[in-house]
Amino acid sequence: MSFLKVQDIHHTYFTKATATTALSDISLTVEEGEFVSFLGPSGCGKTTLLSIISSLLKPTQGTVLLENKPVSTSRNEIGYMLQQDYLFPWKTIEENILLGLKLSQKLNDNSKTSALNLLKQIGLSGVEKHLPKQLSGGMRQRVALVRTLTTEPKLLMLDEPFSALDYQTKLKLEDLVSLTLNEFGKTAILVTHDIGEAIAMSDRVFLFSANPGRIHKTFEMPAELRRLSPFEARNHEAYQGIFQTIWKELESLEPGKI
Ligand code: ADP
Ligand code: MG
Repeated sequence: MSFLKVQDIHHTYFTKATATTALSDISLTVEEGEFVSFLGPSGCGKTTLLSIISSLLKPTQGTVLLENKPVSTSRNEIGYMLQQDYLFPWKTIEENILLGLKLSQKLNDNSKTSALNLLKQIGLSGVEKHLPKQLSGGMRQRVALVRTLTTEPKLLMLDEPFSALDYQTKLKLEDLVSLTLNEFGKTAILVTHDIGEAIAMSDRVFLFSANPGRIHKTFEMPAELRRLSPFEARNHEAYQGIFQTIWKELESLEPGKI
């Protein structure tokens, strides 16, 4: 039995005047500890699918099972990391990272210590009493990762968490996120439109086509890339060939697009 099972999802957004089919015929499974990516052009339904998997949005059709049960929003099963960090600007870094624990009534001496340790481990010693505006974009995303991990979600959703960062910061953060999730044995779904990022970070890449969003192809990353850090993977000889293959597939989906 798979850890996450997404079955026959169709989703149509209705407004008074329009009906937009965002997703059609989506079925996939993710195993525990696996890191997968949803790769595809803007508008192909990636964010919609994440919302459906995390049960924030009820699909027009289909089912999602996490460990054989419907996902519950009340049990903090899903953690989110988004393009924007959504830290509360008036709260200190410490208050921000402890907020999830507080809301889920799991804040105690132990959980607080381990949250603060994680902050140190991720290279952010000494910022506990700072406000978010005193930190760089990359640092704030690291805080967002700590906040997400403190409540110990079973499944992490990363919706373009690196896309607002400069290239160098993005590469460093990819490594840090990958290392941290591996260490905790977390299962994660990354949404990205960056082919290289998908290849470097994932065990498997689902390539989506648009109008309506469908899974066009699935690519399994070779073992020699999977055991490397994302940065090392980008420099491995196998990387370029996979990049070309996926690039060509994307081109065939959107011919002539610039
Ligand atoms: P992606 O994350 O891949 O860019 P989205 O899931 O955001 O794609 O959107 C998929 C499609 O659904 C797009 O055509 C988008 O315009 C449409 N869509 C997304 N959210 C809504 C909404 N709340 N109401 C109507 N249409 C929506
Ligand atoms: Mg999106």
